[in-house]
Amino acid sequence: MAESVELPSRLAILPFRNKVLLPGAIIRIRCTSPSSVKLVEQELWQKEEKGLIGILPVRDSAENVTVSSMVAQGGGTDPDERSPKVHVGSSDSHKLDGKNQQEVIHWHARGVAARALHLSRGVEKPSGRVTYMVVLEGLSRFSVQELSTRGTYYTARITPLEMTKAEMELVEQDPDFVSLSRHFKATAMELISVLEQKQKTGGRTKVLLETVPLHKLADIFVASFEISFEEQLSMLDSVDLKVRLSKATELVERHLQSIRVAEKITQKVEGQLSKSQKEFLLRQQMRAIKEELGDNDDDEDDIAALESKMQSAGMPSNIWKHAQRELRRLKKMQPQQPGYNSSRVYLELLADLPWQKASEELELDLKAAKEQLDSDHYGLVKVKQRIIEYLAVRKLKPDARGPVLCFVGPPGVGKTSLASSIATALGRKFVRISLGGVKDEADIRGHRRTYIGSMPGRLIDGLKRVAVCNPVMLLDEIDKTGSDVRGDPASALLEVLDPEQNKSFNDHYLNVPFDLSKVVFVATANRMQPIPPPLLDRMEVIELPGYTPEEKLRIAMRHLIPRVLDQHGLSPDFLQIPEDMVKLVIQRYTREAGVRNLERNLAALARAAAVKVAEQEQVVPLNQDMQRLASPLVENRLAGGAEVEMEVLPMGVNNHEISNTFNISSPLVVDEEMLEKVLGPPRFDDREVAERISSPGVSVGLVWTTFGGEVQFVEATTMVGKGELHLTGQLGDVIKESAQIALTWVRARAADLKLASTEEINLLNGRDIHIHFPAGAVPKDGPSAGITLVTALVSLFSRRSARADTAMTGEMTLRGLVLPVGGIKDKILAAHRYGIKRVILPERNLKDLVEVPSAVLASLEIIFAKRMEDVLEQAFDGGCPWRQHSKL
Ligand code: ADP
Repeated sequence: MAESVELPSRLAILPFRNKVLLPGAIIRIRCTSPSSVKLVEQELWQKEEKGLIGILPVRDSAENVTVSSMVAQGGGTDPDERSPKVHVGSSDSHKLDGKNQQEVIHWHARGVAARALHLSRGVEKPSGRVTYMVVLEGLSRFSVQELSTRGTYYTARITPLEMTKAEMELVEQDPDFVSLSRHFKATAMELISVLEQKQKTGGRTKVLLETVPLHKLADIFVASFEISFEEQLSMLDSVDLKVRLSKATELVERHLQSIRVAEKITQKVEGQLSKSQKEFLLRQQMRAIKEELGDNDDDEDDIAALESKMQSAGMPSNIWKHAQRELRRLKKMQPQQPGYNSSRVYLELLADLPWQKASEELELDLKAAKEQLDSDHYGLVKVKQRIIEYLAVRKLKPDARGPVLCFVGPPGVGKTSLASSIATALGRKFVRISLGGVKDEADIRGHRRTYIGSMPGRLIDGLKRVAVCNPVMLLDEIDKTGSDVRGDPASALLEVLDPEQNKSFNDHYLNVPFDLSKVVFVATANRMQPIPPPLLDRMEVIELPGYTPEEKLRIAMRHLIPRVLDQHGLSPDFLQIPEDMVKLVIQRYTREAGVRNLERNLAALARAAAVKVAEQEQVVPLNQDMQRLASPLVENRLAGGAEVEMEVLPMGVNNHEISNTFNISSPLVVDEEMLEKVLGPPRFDDREVAERISSPGVSVGLVWTTFGGEVQFVEATTMVGKGELHLTGQLGDVIKESAQIALTWVRARAADLKLASTEEINLLNGRDIHIHFPAGAVPKDGPSAGITLVTALVSLFSRRSARADTAMTGEMTLRGLVLPVGGIKDKILAAHRYGIKRVILPERNLKDLVEVPSAVLASLEIIFAKRMEDVLEQAFDGGCPWRQHSKL
């Protein structure tokens, strides 16, 4: 209970809109607006002792009240208070001097000092805004002498209004007061009895009557009633004890009367209730009890809702019959019964599936589709042309069973985004199903419902998510499905992609056929080789090679940078990434076939810039113009009910102002220094190859991985041993055999190659050979390292370094013939990325060069080799002088 407290001469003021806090009352408020949060932070949260603040009622400006205002300009005593002061007179309400009549705040002249009993701080998600929950206890009345602002909130000079002890004693002897007290006490006692009878509570409230001084009790009683704002104000204004008591007595009496009337009505109505009405009432009560106990989830309502959802799902008639049977079963079950939930979830799925709902397919406009593809993607001319052809066929024959397009290429080359562009061009929804790592057939086809935790397969789940039966469905990473004991996902996919079978696709969980024939399937894969041939047979493969640095630059400038800026809430006015810098990012920080890492690095730059811009927020000057003080109550967040969400007058900056302030005159331009600061020291440079190949025994190969082409070093060394060959670097069987062949070839040619003086000398005499493929964590296999292995061994035995500017790829036979290999385009692009100048290729790969962009070819010297000797001739500086001695 609040005892008398000494009030300071100045209090921070929290305005309460259309609400009064009376002394003795305890309320909980949530502070959300910037100024109230600031006030709580500074006056309550950061103070060790429990602070005091003033609560001042504020009337809605819309309300029509007599206004008498006094607004004066003047300097205050507090140096912080440079803003004009608002003087509050004795009248009921006041206004601030605003030109606009609407911009009026009606302050009440009297308020109540309050103490915080409890404070808690919260952070709203996702905005990150800080809010406070404060439990306040009203202490004593004060009147406002002068209102001013401190930073974002108000403070007031005040004088206390409560009586001194001596004055109190004098009043207590007043006979009028004595009789008023008696009357109030009697009425209050009656109210308490009635309430206790109704609610069967103990006599705790009665104790209050004996212990708390009556004038305080009057406030406490009134605070607990629902009375109008005007009545609350008049109670607040009742500084005189006699007035206060008589007002409180009147209000208590009125409350008592209303309880009695309500009781009478209830009795009357109850008497007239029919049996069915009684039943209804009982049901309502039961529901309320269940709600209290927390075990009510409106099952009946839910099932009715489910039924109507099922009716509107447009199921085919045989499936509708099946669903109804299941529903009847569900209705007979108790919610606690096993199987109830699974049955309900199943029916929900049936009701949610898009049996007929389809997005309306627009009349396909090929020109617009082309524009769409062009605006989303740079380059890829052939790919786009193929997509347009595909769309044209669909236009001419909408139900044509066209092949399923399958984009094959390294990550980040735009496979997914091309598929999504197709969806946009067709005016259909887009859904992506990730097949990476799917080994279980049930992932595609669902588990039977007899399993615990069974669920539909990814396709049906995707259709439920997208909620139309004719989306463009992307089967992502179709090459990453594998088969094991749990079945073969590829065979399930085969059914999905087969136009004859997918009309009635059977998901084990669903257990009724679903028509997939309206879905447009598009697939993506990194490599073609792991895709099972029957599946590949159903698809039309479109290969997307990696990009050249020039293409990457164009993609970054036209597509990635605008998108990244947009995603980070920036614009070129804030951040500019010049072309030179993008080039550096491409050269020094990324070495990939696609543009995913490039996009990531650009995003890192944008994030860094966003932090810089956001930091400026703190220096946004608060406009302290008087006009602003008198701004209307914009943030109207006063919530009804028990919890008061308080209104605090906005005084800060508005959005417009923020954007003006952020309109910095010169944008942040990324330079080399910023690159290093944000992205770290360069990860790649052109010297890498030269450094790694500086000693004999190393050669540069070109390999093909799921990430596109890559440069692969091969290192060989010898040590004392018994003539064994050691191989490391996670090698597969094929590459191990290549190493064996390479070593045999070099040993057989040792004399010709002048590695040994006579043919009889064993190169491995007393020594072991160790060949290592660095990047040991990446599994490697394939025959294309044959010529690279020989070069490394020849370099090792001859103690001559191979050329650092030359990379090679090619398979070799035991007799030294160089055989063609795959992935030439990607490998050449990789060599170009690494800054390599010469590439040795098998002669029979000449035909593959047509696929390589001419800009890349122009910057490289391509050398064709027929035999291993040709390779060695080109791999060493000054050629290989032993060639003429070699014979087959
Ligand atoms: P993938 O599916 O091949 O791994 P994504 O489609 O996810 O690659 O592409 C990665 C990012 O690169 C996307 O943001 C995509 O828009 C962008 N991108 C790739 N290629 C291009 C291109 N030619 N033009 C514009 N943006 C591209």
